Amino acid sequence: MAIEREGLSGAESLAKTRTYGKFRCHNPSCMGRFQPEPGAKRVKCPACGMEFRVHWIRPDFPRIRGPVWDVNRKIAQEALAALEAKKSAAKAAPKEEK
Ligand SMILES: [Zn+2]
Repeated sequence: MAIEREGLSGAESLAKTRTYGKFRCHNPSCMGRFQPEPGAKRVKCPACGMEFRVHWIRPDFPRIRGPVWDVNRKIAQEALAALEAKKSAAKAAPKEEK
């Protein structure tokens, strides 16, 4: 396995893997890696679909400013709705209490 030869310290490996324009998804349950299109105002995580606002410090140096709330809220609501649906389905399941 390739993972076995990771003798670098955290800082060293960070410096080595750091590439301008690459981000980790800010969704803690995702942590996917992605890269905004040059000049894009928004970037979408291909893994979880969350969107983030991009600020370009230099034409080749983007920074994530923050999440796009309306998109991410929609995703969160859908996740919640799915959870609620699951819950109510469990509740609706015949349990024969009486
Ligand atoms: Zn993501």
